[in-house]
Amino acid sequence: MPAAYRFCPRCAAPLVRRPVAERERDCCPSCSWVHWDNPAPVVAALIEYEGRVLLARNREWPEKMFALVTGFLERDESPMQAVAREVAEETALQTRSANLIGVYEFTRKNEVIVAYHVQAEGEIRLGEELVEYRLIEPARLRPWPMGTGLAMADWMRARGLPVEFLPFPATRS
Ligand SMILES: [Zn+2]
Repeated sequence: MPAAYRFCPRCAAPLVRRPVAERERDCCPSCSWVHWDNPAPVVAALIEYEGRVLLARNREWPEKMFALVTGFLERDESPMQAVAREVAEETALQTRSANLIGVYEFTRKNEVIVAYHVQAEGEIRLGEELVEYRLIEPARLRPWPMGTGLAMADWMRARGLPVEFLPFPATRS
């Protein structure tokens, strides 16, 4: 992902590219600000609802693309609080339990995914970002071979389910 800054956000001087801590980075020659470009953490929820897994389609995604519910953390939130909040905001479900599946790189978006298995209850009502959902039997899940799909695959393997990845390219986490 190319750098998002041309000017220093602190003093507005034009940035220069130079090596800092083993990598070429955009740096401010005047106040020494460095654009570290660190990945942002994202929480993802593999929602188990009445024995099936809820996959949802974001309004910006192609018609057949369904995925886990994801979102950024708010300041002062723990990842577990964030995942329960995202589940509530996007599906109206209450989180009964949230257990870490794992932590995964998603380099295409410069993110790190913290994925939880969420057991949820209540009545599904989709939030603004989502347009459609499906409830899939765990054995019929087909993960994509990156991002949250890797979390889904690990969750399936932990249950002894065979994993058959979807062919590339899925165009999103
Ligand atoms: Zn500066």
